[in-house]
Amino acid sequence: MHVIKRLPTQIANQIAAGEVVQRPASVVKELMENSVDAGATEISITIKDGGRTQISIQDNGSGMNSHDAQLCFERHATSKINLLNDLFSLNTMGFRGEALASIAAVAHVSLKTKKAEDNTGTHIRIEGGTIIQNEEVVCSKGTLIEVKNLFFNVPARRNFLKSDSIEFNHIEDAFLYIAIAHPEVNFTLHHNNQAIYNLSSTNLKRRVTDVLGKNSGDRVFPIDSETDIVKITGFIGKPETAKKTRGNQFFFVNKRFFKSSYFNHAVLKAFEGLIPEKTHPTYFIFLEVDPAKIDVNIHPTKTEIKFEEDRFIYSILLSTVRQSLGKYNLMPSLDFELETAFDLPAGFRKQPIIEPTIQVDPSFNPFKAQNQGGKSNGFSNGIREQGFGKSKSHEEDWKSFYSIQENLENPQQEFIGIDAGITSADVLLIDRYILTPIKTGIMVIDSRRAIERILYDECIDAFVKHPLNQQMLLFPIEKVLEKQEQRIISIHLKTFEQLGFNLELEDTMLRILGAPEILDENGVIQCVDELIERINYSDQNKEDIAHALVVKIATNAARYHRIGNKQEAELQIQRLFSCKSHAISPSNEPILQILTLEQLNQLIK
Ligand code: ADP
Ligand code: MG
Repeated sequence: MHVIKRLPTQIANQIAAGEVVQRPASVVKELMENSVDAGATEISITIKDGGRTQISIQDNGSGMNSHDAQLCFERHATSKINLLNDLFSLNTMGFRGEALASIAAVAHVSLKTKKAEDNTGTHIRIEGGTIIQNEEVVCSKGTLIEVKNLFFNVPARRNFLKSDSIEFNHIEDAFLYIAIAHPEVNFTLHHNNQAIYNLSSTNLKRRVTDVLGKNSGDRVFPIDSETDIVKITGFIGKPETAKKTRGNQFFFVNKRFFKSSYFNHAVLKAFEGLIPEKTHPTYFIFLEVDPAKIDVNIHPTKTEIKFEEDRFIYSILLSTVRQSLGKYNLMPSLDFELETAFDLPAGFRKQPIIEPTIQVDPSFNPFKAQNQGGKSNGFSNGIREQGFGKSKSHEEDWKSFYSIQENLENPQQEFIGIDAGITSADVLLIDRYILTPIKTGIMVIDSRRAIERILYDECIDAFVKHPLNQQMLLFPIEKVLEKQEQRIISIHLKTFEQLGFNLELEDTMLRILGAPEILDENGVIQCVDELIERINYSDQNKEDIAHALVVKIATNAARYHRIGNKQEAELQIQRLFSCKSHAISPSNEPILQILTLEQLNQLIK
């Protein structure tokens, strides 16, 4: 007597369906993925009663011919995979060929589909896995699938469903996971005849801000980095968009949504000190990795994904987000201070420990700093109110303009172990880079940018008090100006004075008699040209112009700066670390990077 029997296909499908279709949101996910895979540019979804009574999805994708339309409901029927090898280089969302079979096993399904080249389409109705209708229809190119009475034949599942609004929340999540990853596609979502989303085809930034809501455009900033291991792109919400609940946190790998508390931790770490505890930053982060290096979703509903190189990705992600926060001036310099306090060059550590005197301002509020405007570069609002370039600049005026000036008054005090000194053995000079070992690896400092930062800090501090130190040129430089240049200089003569220039203007003839002390004589003309160009942005606020001009002086001076020997390099490191923002140059470029031991291991491998 035979004991073992094959399960009837229908029952097997029902059991399999339990894995794929857990709730209405799973249906929405699978159908949307199919539409995306079919190359649709328009996808409209209509939901009734949290998806319990109806889920319809219309797309304008490739459609199916009548043969495929029947086949698609069979288990393991897929057009997306031929060889097992394909599994590792798959670019489609689905490939298991299980979704439609599973859905059809537990609902009343209607499919209308037509390929562009066919005259007529196919209409199939299938209930509990049995085809009850199959006929030709007139319809437009694409596919319409209607799923009604979900779990009509699986009461246990049906009873397990939550309220319509909870089920719809899950649907909305599933919808967003796909809609965000495919901004080029138009998506609409209706629930009980109410339009919930109407997302038109756009770029990622617009899609992200469409999802976040009105006026969110200036509340996100981009992230971007590329290494051999992973390419990271996407958008991060500014600190003030952090929420008490984990709302807007999206990770995608190769355009597929996934959840990862590990990577989330990396982002949280990057935000450390910027957002209140127990709040969650907003992010839309896209990773691109070699598909062979992730565990493709072996379980259909699983949103966790295994990465072969997750530890590297963690550090790359952390530094990418951090760098962006710095680049967009969202990172108070305080944080860099703290970070490097634990990561000081090895030589510093040999010295007796000097109590860190980082001046933590207990009333520091990152959100307040934010409100002063993302572009403020450390200036207070005062500079705007007082008016930059007034004919006479009094120290008091400028002092109040520059909010962090007090902190710069005594930079020595702020520095941890300033005269600790690093031994020459700890510093290496390669081209414009200074290398120095630290506990966790090697710190690489871009000396040009370091000098820009040092000079900028010195100059901006001086600039608010009095004109920059001037040196008279041995031979005055003459330059014939164009009309527009002449006009600009005549208007801004005082500003040039404040910057340390001594200029004479006679009609279109400009004579440069003196220039800021820190400039190399050979660089004077180029600097003046750049200043003329920069000062001419009438639409910008004065504070930004002031910042930009001093940046110009600093970058032009840095251009001629050479570090001759190790002593100079050491001195430069010391000066750099006495700057508040020693990790970011005044032109918002990173000054230093840490090559971690892990990265070094990987390099040598
Ligand atoms: P999979 O997506 O894993 O291949 P599915 O059961 O979701 O499996 O779909 C089976 C097949 O049906 C797909 O491989 C595809 O060929 C076809 N198909 C499903 N939905 C659509 C659609 N919206 N447009 C065109 N073809 C579709
Ligand atoms: Mg599919």
